[in-house]
Amino acid sequence: MQVGEGVHRLTPGVCNFYLIEDGGKLALVDAGAPRDWDLLVQTLPALGRRLEDLEAVLISHAHSDHTGFAERARTTAGAPVWIHQADAAVAKGAKPGKNDGKARSYLLRVEFYRTLFSLTRRGATKLIPIREVSTFGDGEMLEVPGRPRVVHAPGHTPGSAALLLEGRRVLLTGDVLATRNPLTGRVGRRSCRRVSTATPRRRLGHSTSWTGSRLTSSCPAMASPGPKAPPRPRGWPEQPAPPSVLRR
Ligand SMILES: [Zn+2]
Repeated sequence: MQVGEGVHRLTPGVCNFYLIEDGGKLALVDAGAPRDWDLLVQTLPALGRRLEDLEAVLISHAHSDHTGFAERARTTAGAPVWIHQADAAVAKGAKPGKNDGKARSYLLRVEFYRTLFSLTRRGATKLIPIREVSTFGDGEMLEVPGRPRVVHAPGHTPGSAALLLEGRRVLLTGDVLATRNPLTGRVGRRSCRRVSTATPRRRLGHSTSWTGSRLTSSCPAMASPGPKAPPRPRGWPEQPAPPSVLRR
C-alpha cells in the first residue's frame, strides 16, 4: 500500500516495514521479522522493481521485529544496513541493556498472545545478528534513496530513530510512535515507550521535527493516525513492558 509519495507499506499484521522509491532505486525502512523476507520478494515485481534495486536497509531500532531479515538483505542484495550508533552493537548480536517494566499485566490480554503467536511464527523471537552495519547519528541526511534525515528519539531503545522524508512530508517513526498497542489492542496515538523502555529512561526529543509531517509508523494503523488516546487517569499505573521475547 502506498502511504506517501513513493513510500510503500508492507505489513504482515504486526510490525510494518516500508519501501522508499527514488529514481528507480529503493531503500527499505525496517526489515520486519526474519520470515517476512518472502513478502518483500513478492512485493518488488508489483512495484516494477527487483532485489538489485535495493540500495540500503535502514533500521529504526535494534529489536528483532525490525531487524528481521536485514542480514539476509545485506548478503543477498548487497544492500548496506544502517542503524543509529547507539543500537549498533545490539544489532550485531550484543546483549541489550536492561529494560524497565514487568510482563505481568499483559498476560491476561488476548492481544498479547495474538501478537506473540504472530511474531513467533515469523521467527521474531530471536534477533538475527547483522554482521556489518553502517551507523548514523542525529540530524544526518543519508545519501540513500529518499535522502531521509535522522531524528534520534531515544526511549524505546537507546538508538531509536525516526526518519524524515522532508520533501514528501513523511516521517517513519519505527516504534517511537504508534496508534495501536500490539499487546493490548488499544487504539490511540501513543509512544511505544511503555511497551519497552531502555534503562535509564530517556525522554523523546525533537518534538518540533514532527510538526506538520505525515506520520507513518512501523506499528499498525499509524499510516492513518487514529483518535487521540484518552489521558491516563491520575493514579493509574503505567503499563509495564512485555517479556524479553517481544522486546528484542
Ligand atoms: Zn521495538
